[in-house]
Amino acid sequence: MEKLSSVVIIGRPNVGKSTLFNRLIGKKKSIVTSLAGTTRDRIYGKVEWQGKVFKLIDTGGYMLNSTNCIESLINNQVEKALQEANLIIFLCDGKQGLVPLDIEISKKIRKFNKTIFLCINKIDVPKNQYQLASDFYKLGFENTITISAEHSIGVDDLLEKIIHYIPEHNLNETERDKIKIAIIGKPNVGKSSIINALIGEERLIISEVPGTTRDSIDIHFKYNEFDYYFIDTAGIKKKSKTHNLPELISIIKAKKTIDNSDIVLLVLDCTREIQHIEAELAGYTYNKIKPLAFIINKIDLMKNKIKDQKAFINYMKKRLNFVSFAPFLFVSAKTKENIKYILNIINNLYESYVKRIKTSELNLLLQDELNDFTLGYVKNKPIKIQYITQVSIKPPTFVLFANKRIKPTNNQLKYLENLIRKRYYSITVPIKIIIKSKKKI
Ligand code: GDP
Repeated sequence: MEKLSSVVIIGRPNVGKSTLFNRLIGKKKSIVTSLAGTTRDRIYGKVEWQGKVFKLIDTGGYMLNSTNCIESLINNQVEKALQEANLIIFLCDGKQGLVPLDIEISKKIRKFNKTIFLCINKIDVPKNQYQLASDFYKLGFENTITISAEHSIGVDDLLEKIIHYIPEHNLNETERDKIKIAIIGKPNVGKSSIINALIGEERLIISEVPGTTRDSIDIHFKYNEFDYYFIDTAGIKKKSKTHNLPELISIIKAKKTIDNSDIVLLVLDCTREIQHIEAELAGYTYNKIKPLAFIINKIDLMKNKIKDQKAFINYMKKRLNFVSFAPFLFVSAKTKENIKYILNIINNLYESYVKRIKTSELNLLLQDELNDFTLGYVKNKPIKIQYITQVSIKPPTFVLFANKRIKPTNNQLKYLENLIRKRYYSITVPIKIIIKSKKKI
């Protein structure tokens, strides 16, 4: 957190600093942290937007006990926050108009030579904005924006503008090198044989480490620059025990493993029919929006590989039609055929799962493909998507802003999902789409 870019909100008391802070953070209390060790609590939170991330500091926290605002403004903590800031939001009260204290604050913060956004708050009725804000333009700030933090008006525009000043921060640095894989399936489909074959084939450095839950074991191996963790393999390793587990318990265990993983490999036996438990686990993975691939084992037992594989694919796509998009790989743990491609599938799925697509690229999609797309009509006027942005990874989550509030149909969501998938992903991972109206974040 310490290395993140920082944005500092400053302004005299009661201009709405903490309301704006909460709006920008999005989640009220949960992220707001009080750090021990400072004389007055430092209030800060983390904002993630369009693949960038910054620390937001509300200096209101420093001023609460002070009778003299200017005095507290130059106290050490505020000074330090301003020195470290990438950007300063100077918040004023548009309803009250410009007061001498605002002018004093503006002089103080200018000395730091930072990008300053003058933000005129409490402009609740946008059409009044010019009249109410006109005084503030005298301050001569290049970046001026009117908002209503209380009503969330203009806050997304502010965020949009701020984000340009925030350098890219590689969110995945720590996540990227630790890929957690759930290898699940019915007993005897070949899960542990596959792990052994993979490790033998690729000569991977391997160790067994205690897993996330008690009595679980993660198999950790390194290959190229990646760390792979096959998680919760205790059940796979200690066969005699798990094979006797009642089905219900083994399903619960598998679901826990899925919850803790980045990627799910569901192992099937090509010589057997797909059972209810396998469909249930595939469905669970789908609902949890985790990348899924099928590893279809024991192809050495197929008589006519081409014909039998084709038949199995058709059968699988019918039986598990709700996840028919998931990639699959035919392998034999016994002969090691195709085993080495398992890592390719894992890498591709993971790359997609943590991929960030630039807003500018997404808006090209809007131009190219969504010109004629409407979500519905209000008073004969079409509801259109005006803007697309990716807000998070794992799973890739996209917010599509429409000009009016509307609940999309499942088919519309599917269509939009497919458009994004087709254009930006080489392998199919689940993505999440949220439709919002342009007014609010
Ligand atoms: P797990 O319970 O899913 O971990 O399954 P195991 O790895 O213990 O395998 C179950 C049985 O299937 C064992 O007898 C393995 O020798 C056999 N087996 C595993 N993979 C293959 C394969 O690719 N081909 C064949 N013919 N047998 C396999």
